[in-house]
Amino acid sequence: MKKITIAIDGPASSGKSTVAKLIAKDLGYVYLDTGAMYRSVTYLALQAGLTEETVNVPQLLDLIDRHPISFGLAADGSQTVFIKDQDVTLAIRQNDVTANVSWVAALAEVREKLVEQQRQLAKSGGMIMDGRDIGTVVLPKAELKIFLIASVEERAERRYKENLAKGIEADLEELKQTIAERDYKDSHRRVSPLKPADDALIFDTTGVSIEGVVTFILEKAKQIIDK
Ligand code: C5P
Repeated sequence: MKKITIAIDGPASSGKSTVAKLIAKDLGYVYLDTGAMYRSVTYLALQAGLTEETVNVPQLLDLIDRHPISFGLAADGSQTVFIKDQDVTLAIRQNDVTANVSWVAALAEVREKLVEQQRQLAKSGGMIMDGRDIGTVVLPKAELKIFLIASVEERAERRYKENLAKGIEADLEELKQTIAERDYKDSHRRVSPLKPADDALIFDTTGVSIEGVVTFILEKAKQIIDK
């Protein structure tokens, strides 16, 4: 069967990773969470004491080269993230990383490195990748491009529940504010801003169940695969 590449983009907490994982499972595809890669680099930067004001880009690039990011599977089937041999799955979801990831992701040199790695991983097809610039920059030739949106209120509520389940401290009002701020920064940066590709299908998931979103995307994917 033909193996296609699927790009899922959208703002923070729009449900990209949840639906992408389910679609990958259904199609037997590889799922790549590119946000986890930017979060891992942010974790490295913070560990090295770098801040937006003091960042030394060559030093950060060297850190990335010496600390490869990889993905694994936990016993319960969930995805794990490693920096070298350190499991950072939970560490990269903490509030300090979330608060700093947008400035790290705005560095052109960091993006260049990560985009190269993402393209290598997608080479053989059968890939579903989620992020902010997958349809526009990373995989402009992806056969299916989806751009998920949802109201800030609904996204904050989803993230609130997720954080509580993961044992991460959360405050609903604060989440609304940080999500809106992150969207603003991600959409207004000079390099690869968050925006739908011209040929992306834009889907507003406000009030739509996860199953509803998955069914819609799977239908579109299967139409292309069967063509
Ligand atoms: O998807 P997630 O919310 O984990 O992404 C974290 C951050 O990584 C985003 O807010 C954005 O700044 C950055 N990112 C990006 N490009 C991607 C994926 C994520 O700039 N393809």
